[in-house]
Amino acid sequence: MQITQSKNLFEKAKNFIPGGVNSPVRAFRAVGGDPIFIKKADGAFIYDEDDNAYIEMINSWGPMILGHNHPMIREAVIKAMENGTSFGAPTAREVEIAELIVSMVPSVEKVRMVNSGTEATMSAIRVARGFTGRDKFIKMEGHYHGHGDSFLISAGSGAITMGNPDSPGVTKGTAKDTLLAPYNNLEAIEELVAANRNEIAALILEPVPGNMGLALPKEGYLQGLRDICNREGIVLIFDEVMTGFRLAKGGAQELFGVTPDMTTLGKIIGGGMPVGAYGGKKEIMEHVSPAGPVYQAGTLSGNPIAMAAGLTMLNYLNDHAEVYSQLNSIGEKIATGIKETVSSLGLNYTVNHLGSMYSLFFTGEEVYDFGTAKHADTALFGKYFQAMLKRGIYLAPSQFESLFLSTALTDDLIKNILDANKEALKEIHQP
Ligand code: PMP
Repeated sequence: MQITQSKNLFEKAKNFIPGGVNSPVRAFRAVGGDPIFIKKADGAFIYDEDDNAYIEMINSWGPMILGHNHPMIREAVIKAMENGTSFGAPTAREVEIAELIVSMVPSVEKVRMVNSGTEATMSAIRVARGFTGRDKFIKMEGHYHGHGDSFLISAGSGAITMGNPDSPGVTKGTAKDTLLAPYNNLEAIEELVAANRNEIAALILEPVPGNMGLALPKEGYLQGLRDICNREGIVLIFDEVMTGFRLAKGGAQELFGVTPDMTTLGKIIGGGMPVGAYGGKKEIMEHVSPAGPVYQAGTLSGNPIAMAAGLTMLNYLNDHAEVYSQLNSIGEKIATGIKETVSSLGLNYTVNHLGSMYSLFFTGEEVYDFGTAKHADTALFGKYFQAMLKRGIYLAPSQFESLFLSTALTDDLIKNILDANKEALKEIHQP
């Protein structure tokens, strides 16, 4: 595999773009080596500027659940383009997608479209504050909710990868209203609630966190949060930017049978276009301007091209329940295969897996929160990443990310992935 174009582009990019990339983890800092620059993607594959092909395990960090360049979405976008790219005025398509989201996601009775997951979470917190008249909110250590100021405190994903989970530039004034709790620990929430009674507007979390690597909620944990929030008048917000339309058509809330008050969405909802959304109970969403006083707006919100892609994606998922059994089966085969290889090589690493999301952690300990995720050997992960990349498998370039599988992975490709995994694990453990 020859990589020259990517290297040249990266050298040039560094002159004009901070760190050479438009989002930090893309720079491969955590895994060493230079990033590969992508020319195109199709189905289960992405292709770099040197025309090397890689099997996709990230899928644009989640959106491409049906694989890349799906003809149905491509055609919907091209057709929409024929009528203009942006109007900044209401459209029929927005009404249609809102109705569909309400029908698919249990907690959502009304929904507002935005342009990213970051916007969705920032707006949801503002609305929860406006609704309750309280300032503080609880966030879980190692969870990532985009780069809004008040979330860049013990943040996951790229923030941990870059070693700055608490970003400079976030003022003390902002940070003091973000209360931190460890995931999967209800006592810690009870303590925070008792110490801040009637001051907490919201509790936001990734119900199934993917941004410290994948971790799963302990039995009864999500329901326990629901009960505390009910008792205390706290708005429970599930950030389902990753899990929405992925773990089930109604997201983690459908899978675990726990309905939050508000939900934030992104990624799959845009079919690969820049889209996010936040929604929830009518009585809460009626506080959003112009129905209510909480201001939130966007020049490109509900963009007709983005809505065409999103609507096509969601309609497909809504009409094809078999997608989820297919994704579950693909995820099961890969996670089981990796576990078998790990143990057959006499190694002891943890695989967390749910549906089409998984993480291989380079620690033998159970990983169920940020503290346990940090036990992973990130240097060894870096070697594994490179060993997989050179075998044509494109993983997320950080230990603290989940992988996102697509329906484009055939049994033959799964075999390639598992063979590469075995060879890579052998290579990185050679004395
Ligand atoms: N919330 C979660 C759970 C996410 O995983 C992400 C992004 N990975 C975001 C919010 C932010 O979304 P965006 O990158 O679209 O701003």
